Amino acid sequence: MTTAYLTHPACEEHKLADDHPESPQRLEAIQNRLIAGQLMDFLRWREADSATLAQLNATHCPEYVASIFARAPEEGHVALDDETLMMPNTLEAALRASGAVVKAVDMVLQDEVNNAFCAVRPPGHHAEYDKAMGFCVFNNIAVGARHALDAYGLERIAIIDIDCHHGNGTESIFESDARVLYASSYQYPLFPYPDPGASHDNIVHMPLEKGAKGEEFRAAYKRDLFPALEAFKPQLIMISAGFDALAEDPMGQLRLKEEDIVWVTQHLLDIAERYCEGRMVSVLEGGYNTDATGRAVFSHLKVMTGL
Ligand SMILES: [Zn+2]
Repeated sequence: MTTAYLTHPACEEHKLADDHPESPQRLEAIQNRLIAGQLMDFLRWREADSATLAQLNATHCPEYVASIFARAPEEGHVALDDETLMMPNTLEAALRASGAVVKAVDMVLQDEVNNAFCAVRPPGHHAEYDKAMGFCVFNNIAVGARHALDAYGLERIAIIDIDCHHGNGTESIFESDARVLYASSYQYPLFPYPDPGASHDNIVHMPLEKGAKGEEFRAAYKRDLFPALEAFKPQLIMISAGFDALAEDPMGQLRLKEEDIVWVTQHLLDIAERYCEGRMVSVLEGGYNTDATGRAVFSHLKVMTGL
């Protein structure tokens, strides 16, 4: 199998406070692990383009997008909310992060590669239609999914969110669009404090209690997601790949191990192979223990490459 690895140097120039967990070192750790494990040699490395205004406006409220461009600071910082800051390099990083997913979708749907991973930051899954939230400015995976709907006319895209936090932004953007199945496993209760009961037919919630391990995680996927995914028959599978559900993570209290990441990746890849020729686009979200994130991305990509 051929796997693309999309990123951009600008994604490492978005720097928050020195001790902020959403740090450029996250991407460094991933790349170092891929190089050390000699997996990088097997990946088709591509630099991301910037998402276009039209692509952003197709997903987000155009007034919101315009306000992000208008507020981008030349020095210091601007607070979009309590925890989402824009620094001088944030806009460029956010444009490349969303652009990476658009390019990954193009590469996969044009059969240039079988699947793709986007090593990007800032993350995206908390960003709503007209609101930045939880370190996220643009909803990268939603921008990519919307591109797949609009440019390729896909009718069934599944987005599976394995981050420790519920992807409120992605859910809010697609909850009224039956062409997208959005499923999220997450620690509950925890930021962004979703209502695990509220649901549309195309939305799957898999809340997990603090301390939940791989056993509970796997049971939820077997019970709540895989049957829904088989019935949906996706034409493209996208993964909001957050690695903060790992036991080592400082921001969540789930207890997943690397082998659980391997397990879920393999199951999603099997479903992708059954229904959509293995087409899969995975996008980095959270994951704040840099070593654990690097190791987990390595394992995730090892499955995706078939090595
Ligand atoms: Zn998270």
